[in-house]
Amino acid sequence: METIFNFIISTIVFVFGAAIGSFLNVVIYRVPAGLSVLWPPSRCPKCLHQLKFYENVPVLGWLRLRGRCSNCHSRISVRYPLVEAATGLLFLLIFWQFGATVQTVGWWAFFSWLLALSAIDCDTMTLPNVLTRSGLVAGLVFQVAKGLWPSFSPIASVNYVVLDGIVGAVAGLWLFDTIALAGSIALGQTAMGAGDSKLAALMGAWLGGKYLLLAGFIACVAGAFTGGGAIALGWLDRRQPMPFGPFLALGAAIAALWGEAILSTYWQLFFPNLG
Ligand SMILES: [Zn+2]
Repeated sequence: METIFNFIISTIVFVFGAAIGSFLNVVIYRVPAGLSVLWPPSRCPKCLHQLKFYENVPVLGWLRLRGRCSNCHSRISVRYPLVEAATGLLFLLIFWQFGATVQTVGWWAFFSWLLALSAIDCDTMTLPNVLTRSGLVAGLVFQVAKGLWPSFSPIASVNYVVLDGIVGAVAGLWLFDTIALAGSIALGQTAMGAGDSKLAALMGAWLGGKYLLLAGFIACVAGAFTGGGAIALGWLDRRQPMPFGPFLALGAAIAALWGEAILSTYWQLFFPNLG
């Protein structure tokens, strides 16, 4: 009985996540172009044919159409179903980890911002202010909600968690501006855009100071390895800019999902006498 119940709940969470992913696709394509995300409804970018409701079903709609518009038969990017499937899986992963809690809803929102910003950064090398600002405000609202929810954490008062979010946001701006400055001196070119420190501020608001540091560290290591590897393999020119937003988002996702486990392992490994 319990297995069936878990299966049904997991399916509902995945479908909900994939539907949010479908909306994220709209955000990813329309926000950089300065278009409304609410109107008009989803349509083919080539012939403007409006998608029927069954063509707009996450993942399955694309598979049913075999990746082509039903009207003009031009290709529909495989990234649409991939973003939908990835959002569904991430929502499921978060739900399995945190259960039916305020934290789960918070991470669903946080990861949605991270996904949209990563994809936009890959496409356009920019992180739109409208998304970094709204995400930062949402993060602070989340900290208030977390503090108000009595069952979530009885010790943490509203003041404490909100303060952690604000400190995290300010630390994010300051820290990444410093890294950007050091990087541009070392490389003789702009290492990170202004958008990256705004994304770091957003992450700080959601994660708080401690996990922001962990996320930043993971982002730098992952970015350095990927960039170095791509240059060594000749895929990337040394002077060619690489978007850093996806690495920040990756660091944030790992810190959100496994940060506690990573930090406690770290303390036990290097400072066993303190614990
Ligand atoms: Zn079309």
